[in-house]
This record gives sequence, structure tokens and C-alpha cells, in this order.
Amino acid sequence: IEQTAYQNDKLAMLGRISASIAHEIRNPLTAIRGFIQLLRPHLLQLGKDEYARIILTEIDRANDIIYEFLNSSKPSAPQMTVIPVSSLLKEVVLLTESEALMKGCQIHMEERAVPIAVSIDVKQIKQVILNIIKNAMDAIEGVGVDHSGEIQIGTQAAGRYVQISITDNGQGMDHNTLSRLFDPFFTTKESGTGLGLSVSYRIIKNHGGFISVNSVKGKGTSFMISLPQV
Ligand code: ADP
Repeated sequence: IEQTAYQNDKLAMLGRISASIAHEIRNPLTAIRGFIQLLRPHLLQLGKDEYARIILTEIDRANDIIYEFLNSSKPSAPQMTVIPVSSLLKEVVLLTESEALMKGCQIHMEERAVPIAVSIDVKQIKQVILNIIKNAMDAIEGVGVDHSGEIQIGTQAAGRYVQISITDNGQGMDHNTLSRLFDPFFTTKESGTGLGLSVSYRIIKNHGGFISVNSVKGKGTSFMISLPQV
């Protein structure tokens, strides 16, 4: 699936808008937080400390959301490192193991005899692979509790590129979802942000690579990340 120029503009604009909105919202939140803390002894006397506690918790939650949003939409300067793909993948799989165990997903990683190296910003590419694996786990959860979920991770060399494939046997996507999944804010999840894949797309593109997707509704999905070999 090709991302259009329109989407790229939207992403660049999203970064700028979110930075200024986050800033503008944080200031009043800080003021509200301070005054609630000043009022807290009075509320306690009235037997309403619970209200103060809820207000403070919710303000902190709003701040967390803004922070996460800023983090995912602001492009930071890439720090390139040469690393074998297999060690990168092993590290990411380790990060997802406890969640996979909890959700009853098996993650299989294909071992490769020949190490293929890539030059990448490790933090950014880890985020991409993590996003895709988390989506795979969500798609598996979406099928139902007795479904034995499997995620297959493989690598192969293809011309100038290294391909990383992440395949799940989750619920798959219909045509509408498939055509919009890289759009910023497109989500089919109740508490989704719809930012994971749009940010991932931009990161891979900035690395000179590309992402493609195959999906069959009711069967599963396969993401393929292609990155230039060193
Ligand atoms: P979010 O996860 O917050 O919804 P994403 O940008 O990561 O945002 O994903 C956008 C949408 O793409 C998801 O809401 C989901 O509908 C769809 N999607 C992504 N990965 C998969 C997958 N492996 N299987 C099925 N649907 C997927």
C-alpha cells in the first residue's frame, strides 16, 4: 500500500499542531492542578477529599496522554547504528513476551544462519516492530479466548533489502480497514489512537524502506518491512 503525499503532509502538520496544542493544554492543567492542591485541605474538612483525588488523577492522566501523543508524533533526529537484524528482533520479542504469555499468543522467531545487518535508529525501528506485534496480539484477541494465537517472525534478504515479516493468525482486515490503516487517527479499536501505523510508516520511509501488508478477513495478516542492507 502506497502512502500518498496527502498523508505525508497530514503527518508533518500533525507533528506541528500536536506540539503547540500540547503546550497550550499543559499550562492550564498545571494551574488547575496547583489550585486543587491548595483547596485540598478545605475539601478534606468537607469530607470531599475523594473529589480532589479524582481530579488530580485525571489531570495526571490527561498529562500522560499528551506526553505519549507528543512522543509518537514528534520526529526526533535518528541515531544510526549498524546491527544484525536477528539481535534487534530478539530484543523486541523479549519485550513482548509477558504480554504474549498473558494473551496466550505464541511468538515464533525463525533463526537465520547468515546474519544480515542493517543501519537503523534502533529505538525507532524497535518501536515499529513493537507496534506491529502489539497489533497482531490485539487481532488475535479479537478472534476470541479459545483461539490459539500464533505470530511468526521471519527475515530474508531480497536484493538490496532485508525483509522482516510479521504474520499473525488473528481476525484479519476487511477491504476498508486495509485501505486506511496507515491514515493518522484511523482506528477500529475502542481505546486505539490510530497513530501506531502512521508513525511506523514514516519511520520506515525515513530509513529508505517501505512496508507492505497482506490480510485476509477471518484468517490473519502479514506485515512486511523492507529495509536497505548495509
Ligand atoms: P491502533 O492500534 O491504535 O488502532 P494503528 O495505527 O496501530 O492504531 O492501527 C490501525 C488499525 O489497523 C487498527 O485499529 C486495526 O483495525 C488495523 N490493524 C493493524 N494491524 C492489524 C492486524 N495485525 N490485524 C488486524 N487489523 C490490524
